[in-house]
Amino acid sequence: MSEFLENGKIWFNGKLVDWKDATIHVMAHVIHYGSSVFEGFRCYEHVTGPALFRLDDHIDRLFNSAKIYRMSIPYTKEEISQACKDVVKANGLRSAYMRPVVYRGYGSLGVDPKDCPIEVAVAALSWGKYLGEEAINVGVDVCVSTWNRMAPNTFPSIAKAGANYMNSQLVKLEAKVNGYLEGICLDTFGHVSEGSGENIFVVSKGKLYTPSIGASILPGITRDCVFQIASDFGIEVVETQIPREMLYVADEVFFTGSAAEVTPIRSVDRIPVGQGRRGPITEKIQQRLFNIMNGEIEDPYHWLTFVE
Ligand code: PMP
Repeated sequence: MSEFLENGKIWFNGKLVDWKDATIHVMAHVIHYGSSVFEGFRCYEHVTGPALFRLDDHIDRLFNSAKIYRMSIPYTKEEISQACKDVVKANGLRSAYMRPVVYRGYGSLGVDPKDCPIEVAVAALSWGKYLGEEAINVGVDVCVSTWNRMAPNTFPSIAKAGANYMNSQLVKLEAKVNGYLEGICLDTFGHVSEGSGENIFVVSKGKLYTPSIGASILPGITRDCVFQIASDFGIEVVETQIPREMLYVADEVFFTGSAAEVTPIRSVDRIPVGQGRRGPITEKIQQRLFNIMNGEIEDPYHWLTFVE
């Protein structure tokens, strides 16, 4: 699934360096306390060249995640955006999965990170479909996790922080061990929250429902794309509390995410969703998003930033 470009370059604290040289010390703060924030997004092979998808929104979210954790990034948004473009170019990529990461480095071991430098890296990977090629057309089998998403005012879910993905790992590993591809978390009040690395939408009687920002979710940028596309199609989107059982009786359910894109869910806890395959609204939204990404239709929302 993931492909490290081991002969390639990584932007590391302001410079492009060889992949093998982009390393940190074992005593770096981030290793011990998970002190990092990061982004994940795609660069698409567009008819007119490699195009970074919603670059500005991802860089904004990176800076917001850092702000929540009182991390002052020693580069501007423009510099990090440029780094993303440079990494694609330096590696001669036509498409990629982009991974900027900001972390607290080597300085001291106390929880108080004030003596640890803030370091930044931007890497690119060659990554196919996150939940599998077939998943996009056929759908995935998922479970409701026994793990909840973080409670409010514990780990802020609006920050895309490395430490949050300890929770995600619990969800993903449990799902896989039990024969599912992914797990859906409930929040600590028992309402549907999100997948380990995806937001979730439920289709019922022609309307879209998705957990609101208060349900311990990461406010996904693909989720926002679905809001836009649905509105253009005249499909209503309701941000609300979603009871678990709505997943079982929905007409369609799908995940969204930069990695997962729009992935249909065909069963939850072995209960088929709708007809047990991708539904028509999921397909319609998927199609429009993919067409914008690869340039088959023009980009009405200015979501693409070309590398050249
Ligand atoms: N929730 C979580 C926990 C995630 O890791 C992701 C992936 N970044 C998402 C939702 C979807 O966010 P986006 O569409 O911005 O990739």
